[in-house]
Amino acid sequence: MTQSIRIERSAIKKTQPKASELGFGKYYTDHMFIMDYDDAKGWHDARIVPYQPITLDPAAKVFHYGQTVFEGLKAYRTADDIIRLFRPDRNFARLNRSNERLSIPELDEELALEALKQLILVDREWVPSEEDTSLYIRPFIIATEAALGVAPSLQYKFMIIMSPVGSYYAEGIHPVKIAVESEYVRAVKGGVGNAKTAGNYAAGLKAQEKASAQGSSQVLWLDGVHRKYIEEVGSMNVFFNLNGTIVTPALNGSILDGITRDSIIQVIKHWNIPLEERQLSIDELVEAHANGTLIEAFGTGTAAVITPIGELLWEGKPLVINNGQTGELSAKLYDTLTGIQRGSVADPFGWVLELDYRQASAAKN
Ligand code: PMP
Repeated sequence: MTQSIRIERSAIKKTQPKASELGFGKYYTDHMFIMDYDDAKGWHDARIVPYQPITLDPAAKVFHYGQTVFEGLKAYRTADDIIRLFRPDRNFARLNRSNERLSIPELDEELALEALKQLILVDREWVPSEEDTSLYIRPFIIATEAALGVAPSLQYKFMIIMSPVGSYYAEGIHPVKIAVESEYVRAVKGGVGNAKTAGNYAAGLKAQEKASAQGSSQVLWLDGVHRKYIEEVGSMNVFFNLNGTIVTPALNGSILDGITRDSIIQVIKHWNIPLEERQLSIDELVEAHANGTLIEAFGTGTAAVITPIGELLWEGKPLVINNGQTGELSAKLYDTLTGIQRGSVADPFGWVLELDYRQASAAKN
């Protein structure tokens, strides 16, 4: 890391919303991070500036060819006023893997993490402290060159914006209904399914609308070739308890390598519970449901950490799982992982990065 980060402070401080009004991604902090790329200078001009709109040429490549990648992670404020990040290095490593797939120039991961730490320091008053709230962090890169030829952009912007968010579950964790999608597909092996890029989410909207109309909250995707093997849920990876063995689809190139997924796998292994990462067909799940061995199902992701699945809707028929209740393992995993993230449970894995800004706050006050 050789670049320094310039800081331009905002003259005005926005009024912060009450914890009960936060919701998800509705409010943004006072500052943002921004850095430019061009082929002559590389990544340059790293700066923290007041949160503001950006101006782009209508021919900017991101608008036409979707050359863009993003990440999502959270910061938590603990009772002792320390701000904690959960495995942020993994997010920047994944951002670079997405960059590689989308022909976007590699980012200095150390600089990106330093930028995030400094941005949180500047906006530290925005990290909410109420139970189950957090600061959602959205790093992203867009192709900004004004040129309509289909070729990698010669200019980019890397930005980080931050949004205080409320509790994902207003009434504690509860199971959701998920529709298994057999008409539309999200991604195919060799495509961009394992990159965190906008097009994957746009491609999912149609099926999401269909699922919502059927009373389901999200879509469970099947593989794009056979429409048979389980892939992942909307913005979560997925796990099943099949007679005591936890099974999750193996990383096959078309699903996202979730950081929560990886963490849950490590926790389950740490508890000596059998776990398999493998191909899993919808037929196997239907059969397990029929013979009573589909014990539990849950999704994993940064937003909600663990989402129990109470029902799968497959070909119009509901497969009710665990009587539609939160399973024992889902509840234990939720308590363990959120406890590690928020500092109430020991972190034997070394996943948490503590940012102790108390001295900075004291100096300021
Ligand atoms: N799959 C998709 C498609 C996602 O968007 C996400 C959210 N990033 C996940 C899985 C879960 O990944 P993570 O645990 O890193 O949030």
